[in-house]
Amino acid sequence: LVSRDFKKEDSIIDVNGVKIGGGHLAIMSGPCAVESKEQLLEAAKAVKACGAQFLRGGAFKPRTSPYDFQGLAEEGLKMLREVADEVGLNVVTEIVNINDLDMICKYADMLQIGARNMQNFQLLKEVGHTNKPVLLKRGLSATISEWLNAAEYIASGGNYNIVLCERGIRTYETFTRNTLDLSAVAAVKELSHLPIIVDPSHGTGRWQMVRPMARAAIAAGADGLMIEVHPHPEVALSDGDQSLKPDNFAVVMQEVRQIAQMM
Ligand code: PEP
Ligand code: MN
Repeated sequence: LVSRDFKKEDSIIDVNGVKIGGGHLAIMSGPCAVESKEQLLEAAKAVKACGAQFLRGGAFKPRTSPYDFQGLAEEGLKMLREVADEVGLNVVTEIVNINDLDMICKYADMLQIGARNMQNFQLLKEVGHTNKPVLLKRGLSATISEWLNAAEYIASGGNYNIVLCERGIRTYETFTRNTLDLSAVAAVKELSHLPIIVDPSHGTGRWQMVRPMARAAIAAGADGLMIEVHPHPEVALSDGDQSLKPDNFAVVMQEVRQIAQMM
């Protein structure tokens, strides 16, 4: 269902009137984790001012250490919804547990399946039975074929509203958090009709690298970007090292739009 052989034309995913794919540039930005109403509102206003259409923010954080901030759960979802409505954005947020599906669907416009759950087949099947748009991130060590098969799990349940997100993969390199695989954009465009966006924040782990990689992603043909933005990255409860401050984000967006126009 997700292969280019099955459907020749690019799919365009519509989220409350915002189109993803087919030449539209989707921008999903906000903090890694929802920390407080103030933090979220400041981030949301900043990204909205730069033309983002989606507010991202995790309420359930799949942290490497159990002692790290795990997210505000439903309280965080409520903040996401309130702030997004106030500012005029769609909410994209991660689901890590099938049991939270109905609850998260009440607050979110798009469900994010994180890298660590890309092959959580039960979760994929369950979101496949909803009609919520899904952002499916590439697994930490997933091949493109495994990733597209994960998308197939969602589509086979009847939900075709799928957007892929390249977020870097594990390699032997340690300077960067992950190795952003921009060749995956070209590969996915050849193999699938689904839109694909790129996350240079998790893809590099370093805020200094977000700007060049964002530009490269759009030049490579990506349909959009997911970028972590925090009003005060130095005190962020997660992923501060890879989060842009609002002023830097504005510069990136300006450059990226110029490149998108040339595509
Ligand atoms: C995130 O988007 O905050 C996140 C946890 O991403 P990933 O699943 O790609 O690591
Ligand atoms: Mn993060």
